Amino acid sequence: MHLYLATGNTHKAEEFGRMFNRVGLPIRVHSAKELGGMPYVEEITGTFTGNCRLKGEALRRIAPAKSWVLADDSGLCCDALQGGPGVDSAVYAGKGASDAQNRQKLLSALKKAPAHQRGARFECHLLLLGPNREEQKFLGQCWGRILEQEVGTEGFGYDSLFVPSGFDKTFGELSPSEKDRISHRAKAFQQMVDWLKQSGVRF
Ligand code: IMP
Repeated sequence: MHLYLATGNTHKAEEFGRMFNRVGLPIRVHSAKELGGMPYVEEITGTFTGNCRLKGEALRRIAPAKSWVLADDSGLCCDALQGGPGVDSAVYAGKGASDAQNRQKLLSALKKAPAHQRGARFECHLLLLGPNREEQKFLGQCWGRILEQEVGTEGFGYDSLFVPSGFDKTFGELSPSEKDRISHRAKAFQQMVDWLKQSGVRF
């Protein structure tokens, strides 16, 4: 069973491959690199699902006929910013901004936010596109709060600012395997696995 992942990031393809392996699904994940590279897509729809669809359809145009494609999009949504930075999480401090610059911008934006307004959630959206216009959406959310300063050096993006609910450590302090148990990506992935198992779909 073959699945094409709509990302130029080979690490993501390897990570998804390992996750399918762990749950016993015999799915071979291919990165867009194997098809000559992920076509350039301007992520302009303003929604996670819309951006997934743009990426997924761009890859489907160059993927082998009859193949299934998986697209993902994720970000951090803060209550005090009405869901921002959301789809703009990667470019919050501007195009080409580093993770550190994005975190600094978030800390400034929330400078005046009291504790009860520092709620936030990570969202991961997955969109599975089939050869006959099948479309399945999966959403994983991880709720928590944003600290007033960075703590921890694990992970990437906003990890060192985010304390998941029920924990007293940031994602930046949790080990990768601890984060994998509760993360938005893990939850969206589990939903997709449940659907794949019960639908019996074969790619
Ligand atoms: P992507 O859609 O997975 O490429 O994620 C977009 C952006 O959201 C990343 O560049 C990060 O800024 C942020 N993000 C998504 N997932 C995480 C996470 O697990 N930890 C920290 N930041 C994340």
